[in-house]
Amino acid sequence: MIEGLWRARALGRLPHALLFEGPAGIGKYHSALWFAQGLFCERSAQPDWSEPCGECGGCKRCTAGSHPDLFVLDPLAEELESIPVARIAARDDGGDSASDFFSLRPMEGGMRIAIMREFDRANVQAQNALLKTLEEPGDSALIVLESARPDLLLATVRSRCVVVRFEALEHGDARAVLGAAGAGGSDAEHLVDWAEGSPGKAMALEKEGAVAVRQQIAAVLSGEVDPLVASQQVLELPGEFGGKTSAAQVRTRTRAALQLLIAVLRDGLHHAAGVDRGGLAHGDLVASAPHEEQSWRYAMEQVVALSGEVELNLTPLGILDRAFLALPRPSR
Ligand SMILES: [Zn+2]
Repeated sequence: MIEGLWRARALGRLPHALLFEGPAGIGKYHSALWFAQGLFCERSAQPDWSEPCGECGGCKRCTAGSHPDLFVLDPLAEELESIPVARIAARDDGGDSASDFFSLRPMEGGMRIAIMREFDRANVQAQNALLKTLEEPGDSALIVLESARPDLLLATVRSRCVVVRFEALEHGDARAVLGAAGAGGSDAEHLVDWAEGSPGKAMALEKEGAVAVRQQIAAVLSGEVDPLVASQQVLELPGEFGGKTSAAQVRTRTRAALQLLIAVLRDGLHHAAGVDRGGLAHGDLVASAPHEEQSWRYAMEQVVALSGEVELNLTPLGILDRAFLALPRPSR
């Protein structure tokens, strides 16, 4: 897919705005960085060139994040819940917004490329601010937006981009990607299933200790462990979570646990509605703890509502306590 875009450049037919859309965690953002590196690779003009060499100055400045003609807005790395208009619109103070970036000529004589990860996090003002650049991008400009939720983009933004659609990998391919990255181990099969075939998400699940969290969920559903013991455990299990402060990391951990709970509850609902366990990522778990559809539904409503509370008043333990207490348990 990226090779096709490089060819389009060679033919002088590369659009000025691209939208990389498709499921989360399948490598759209890293593909965008790879794509940009190929456009900056000094050897790309050679006839037998097929991908970034990794050794020229252009390639090295890309991988070091220091290329003067590459603007990267990564709300995950910057821990921005939403992309503010100040990062997009031109500023009077010589700021570092996308518009400020595009107002300058290319430093190295080639293209000027902006990559914006999860652009669906941009609020309406920020998206509107980008419209101006999308309408008159300038000859050397290229904008690559990445999103797993393109429905949250303004129609005006979307319509000005050429959509490059990324599909989820086959589970076998996803496991191969995991293996190549040295991740997953003996859990790779489960992790890929739980991640719906996304190697990026599977790696995140591994780092977050999802296997152990899921054991706690299973133990509550089968009545082996008290919900309040499980919720405490989940906060204490080993795992790596994003966030600058320990409070932020605990919130990330809480959100991850709630997401896993929702995935299990969704499968519980499906199983109660008659879907075969073989077709469900958590089919083994929900089949071993059969509950009434209404119990799954009640738990789902509670946990989904609690997901909206993570940034608000409740403590992470308070949220997880409520979530685990809402789970269906065997009647005694
Ligand atoms: Zn190169």
